[in-house]
Amino acid sequence: MAKAKPRRTKHIPQRTCVGCREVLPKRSLIRLVRTPEGVKVDPTGKARGRGAYLHNQRSCWERALKGALAQALRTEISPADREHLLAFMATLPEEEATSQALTGSRDSEAPTG
Ligand SMILES: [Zn+2]
Repeated sequence: MAKAKPRRTKHIPQRTCVGCREVLPKRSLIRLVRTPEGVKVDPTGKARGRGAYLHNQRSCWERALKGALAQALRTEISPADREHLLAFMATLPEEEATSQALTGSRDSEAPTG
């Protein structure tokens, strides 16, 4: 009964990366979701709750964690959530292209904090 709309072309949902504001197909972005327990990475993209999207690229996460993400999700990111998100961020590539070859660039004495 409910076959009103013929769907020949697939509609690709577009989303904005809250880090750099670029608009991209949803599938190429990582979804974050606000849950009652806090802000989480949503690998399935299907979790219920207010969502925000980010590139899988560290620079975007860094920017997002400075405030854009909290704003997009209309919540505050708790220290625990931040830890969690930073841990996730650490698994991401630094930048898309221009990767400096791994020749002797180790900073063993990088101060944290
Ligand atoms: Zn981005």
